[in-house]
Amino acid sequence: MGTLSLQNVCKTFAGGVVAVKDVTFSVAPGAFCVLLGPSGCGKSTTLRMVAGLEGVSSGTISIDGTVLNSLHPKDRDIAMVFQNYALYPHLTVAENIAFPLSMRGVPKEQVRARVARAAGAMQLTDLLARRPAQLSGGQRQRVAVARAIVREPKVFLFDEPLSNLDARMRMQTRNELRALHHRLRVTSLYVTHDQEEALSLADMIVVMAGGRVRQVGTPMEVFDSPADRFVAGFVGTPAMNFVEATATFVDGVTVLDSGVFQACAPHVSARTGHRYTLGIRPSHIQLAPNDAVGGVSMHAVVGSVEYLGDVMDISLTAGAHTLTARTAARPGLVPGEAVRATIDPRHIHVFEPGPDGISIGRAAAAPSIPVLTAT
Ligand code: ATP
Repeated sequence: MGTLSLQNVCKTFAGGVVAVKDVTFSVAPGAFCVLLGPSGCGKSTTLRMVAGLEGVSSGTISIDGTVLNSLHPKDRDIAMVFQNYALYPHLTVAENIAFPLSMRGVPKEQVRARVARAAGAMQLTDLLARRPAQLSGGQRQRVAVARAIVREPKVFLFDEPLSNLDARMRMQTRNELRALHHRLRVTSLYVTHDQEEALSLADMIVVMAGGRVRQVGTPMEVFDSPADRFVAGFVGTPAMNFVEATATFVDGVTVLDSGVFQACAPHVSARTGHRYTLGIRPSHIQLAPNDAVGGVSMHAVVGSVEYLGDVMDISLTAGAHTLTARTAARPGLVPGEAVRATIDPRHIHVFEPGPDGISIGRAAAAPSIPVLTAT
């Protein structure tokens, strides 16, 4: 187990493309860290710099204090699992798993024992004589993971290892990876654009956009307390709703008025007229009886209804806003129906305006303004 640290790491490709800008984070020994972000945000380049497959333009990458920047990939005590498995088609499963050890001249007896152990860990013992073409996608990926485990490295790197698998196999392999990590506790850095995969696997998530780190935190921190509007919109399905609001003052307290509902934000010391963005997760919008009082509420008209089993996603039009609500499934709701929607104000996130607006916390319950209505 090693501590992996990136300090002010930058990467500019030939031709002037700046792919990674001033990336700093540290992965504790035995932690599973996920680099999460949209296509082109620089996450694969970051991983490839850790592996030594790309040079670092500036900054340092180290394991347990040893700077890796100028070390050859094979001297880094790192094993990498690729998206496309990268297995040798002419070698058997056993020979593929043994390959990194044979390359390093490990004695044959030791190779046999370590291959048997790695194959056992990945449930491949019965498949050792097969070639990659005789395996399913999930089994091939398990061979690729076994080939990484067998090296017993200080750090594992995973580059979107599940993206070639179908949905069911992805879920199954994800569970296997989680169980494997809990057993081996090897420091891991895992790249994905899939926020659900990140939330489900990570001890720690590094969210990247435009080559920069936007937030470092546990899955719960990133989901519950997104650092900015980008992170808030990228993590969570269905995506967070955003509505613009204008600051006004009621009894000396800042109230953010979206035109269809108001949220009380006593911690925000704004000028009247200052614009903010309010963020509300779909699961925090609930339908209420038309005569309900209290909380933040609004009148809305049902647009579409998507039935998903025990929950349903409803698109609601309220004034100029269209919002998505995820509520418990209930029969009989039809497009065009007028409803009342309520939001617990403690779940309304407040951001500075603009697509990258930073979070300035949550709205608050407003006992002095019982119904902060609507139209
Ligand atoms: P994806 O999920 O699509 O793989 P990513 O987040 O991993 O995306 P990177 O592959 O790290 O993104 O690419 C980051 C940026 O660097 C992109 O703008 C990409 O076009 C650019 N880039 C990547 N490799 C090179 C290269 N060899 N030369 C020039 N630009 C590159």
